[in-house]
Amino acid sequence: MSAAKCAECARLEREREAARAARDMSRVTDCNVLIKRHPDHSKQPAPAGRGRG
Ligand SMILES: [Zn+2]
Repeated sequence: MSAAKCAECARLEREREAARAARDMSRVTDCNVLIKRHPDHSKQPAPAGRGRG
């Protein structure tokens, strides 16, 4: 629904779907935790060409 937060979370979400399809609740919970704990959401990707050189 909403745009992917980051590549890692996008990958985790896909894995979570696969895990749920496989009825692997342990893995589903694992993915949920990893997604929630992912700290890269606040930070934005540094713009190339700008910054301290
Ligand atoms: Zn993330």
